[in-house]
Amino acid sequence: MPQSPLTHSVLLSITLLACALPASAQIDEPNINEKKTQITKIVQQISAQRIDSYVRKLVSFHTRHTMSETQSDTVGIGAARRWIKAELERCSAGQLDVQFDSYVEAGGRRISKPTEIVNVVATLKGKTDPGRYYVVSGHYDSRATDVMDATSFAPGANDDASGTAAVMEMACVMAQHRFDASIVFMAVAAEEQGLYGATHWAKQAREKNLNIAGMFTNDIIGSSRSEHGEIDNKSVRLFAEGIPAVKELPDATRNLIATGGESDSISRQLARHVKETGERYVPGFTVNIIHRRDRYLRGGDHIPFLEQGYAALRFTEPNEDFHHQHQNVRIENGVQLGDLPEFVDTDYTANVARVNAAALASLALAPAAPAQVQMNTSQLENDTSMRWNANTEADLAGYRIVWRDTTSSVWQGSVMVGNVLSYTVKGKSKDNYFFGVQAVDKDGNISVASYPMPEKK
Ligand SMILES: [Zn+2]
Repeated sequence: MPQSPLTHSVLLSITLLACALPASAQIDEPNINEKKTQITKIVQQISAQRIDSYVRKLVSFHTRHTMSETQSDTVGIGAARRWIKAELERCSAGQLDVQFDSYVEAGGRRISKPTEIVNVVATLKGKTDPGRYYVVSGHYDSRATDVMDATSFAPGANDDASGTAAVMEMACVMAQHRFDASIVFMAVAAEEQGLYGATHWAKQAREKNLNIAGMFTNDIIGSSRSEHGEIDNKSVRLFAEGIPAVKELPDATRNLIATGGESDSISRQLARHVKETGERYVPGFTVNIIHRRDRYLRGGDHIPFLEQGYAALRFTEPNEDFHHQHQNVRIENGVQLGDLPEFVDTDYTANVARVNAAALASLALAPAAPAQVQMNTSQLENDTSMRWNANTEADLAGYRIVWRDTTSSVWQGSVMVGNVLSYTVKGKSKDNYFFGVQAVDKDGNISVASYPMPEKK
C-alpha cells in the first residue's frame, strides 16, 4: 500500500536529529511536495502561438528532404536549417551555444548520392554539473510518399515540424533559466532516410564518453485526432524500452533479468520520472508509458541513443492518422492526404512541449541518480538493506528510497532517509517489491531512481 512520504520523512528526520546532532542544530528537510516556481514558470512560458508559427515556417520551405536543395534561401533543407540556427541564436540572446554538427554520408539504402547530413545542436551549459547532459530532439527533415523523392511538396507539419517546433520553443524558453546540468536541444536531419543524424551524434557522444543521463525524441506530437476522428488531446505516449535487444548481454543486463528487473532499465526509470513530473506540472494531461521501444514498423531518433547504451524515450501522439504521414499532398476519393499544417493542433503540441520541459527542467535541476546502488543479499531475511556511493553535488540533502509492487509500473511508496549511504527498510521484503534509490537536493529536486543490483560477494 502506498505510504505517505511526508509522515515518514518527518519521523525519520526526528530520529536522525535525535541521534546525530546536538539539540540546537537544525536541518531543513527538503520540501519534495511543493511545485518549483522555476518549473511552473517555464511551463507557463511555453507558447502554442510560437509553436504554430514555427510549424508554418518549417512547412514554407516546400520540402525538407535530406537530399533536397541546399543553396536556396527559401526552399529545401539548407534554408530550413539555417533558419532554425538563426532563430535559436536570436531567441536565446546568446545564452545557447548553437552549432551545426555535420558530416558527409557517402551513400546508403536511402541515400543515393554523397549528402551532407547536418544537425542543429543548441547547448545550454549547466552551472554546477555541466558534464551531465540531457538531450531533447525533433527531426526537421521531411518526406513525401517516395522516400527518395527530394523535390515534391513535403510539408511534414506533424512529422516532424511539430517535434522540431516544440524543441525550438523549449530551447528559447529554457535559455532564460539556469540549471545544474546541461541541456542539449537538437533539430536532427535524415531521420526519414534511416536515423543518420541522430546516429552520428550519439556515436560521437559515446566516443567522447559523454555522460548523457537521458534523451527524449519528439516525433509526431502534432495531432490529437485519429484516422477515425476520435479526439484525445489529453494524453501522449511515451515509448520506453525495457531490456535492450542486443545479441550479447552485458553483465548489468544479465543481473537485471536475473532479479526480475526487466522493467527497471535506465529508460524505464527515466520514463517514470517523466510521467511523474510531466503530470504534476501539466494538470489533466496523462503520460502513458508504453513498455516497448517504438511502434511496429517504425523507429525514431531515440534508437541510436539506446544502441549506445543511453537511456532514451520517444514521445508520440496517442492516435496517429496515417493519411497525414509520409504521403504526397493530394486528394483521393474526396480525402485530403498529406502532412499539412491544418491537421496539426498546436495547443496539443504545446502541452506535450510543457511535459518535456517540466521533465527536462526537473532532471537538470536535480542531482544525478545515485551510483553503485547495491542490494544486500548476504542472508535470507524479510527486511531490505541497500547501500550506495555518495553523490558529489554541493547542494545534496540526502536520499529517498522508493518501492512498488512487482506488477506496478510506477512507484507506490517512498521514505526520505537523510544523508546516509545505506539503509534498511524494515518489514518490506526485497522478494516482494521493487526498490529504487533517489538523490534529493536541498530545494527538494529529486533524481531518477537507481535500481539496486545484488551485492557482489
Ligand atoms: Zn518522424
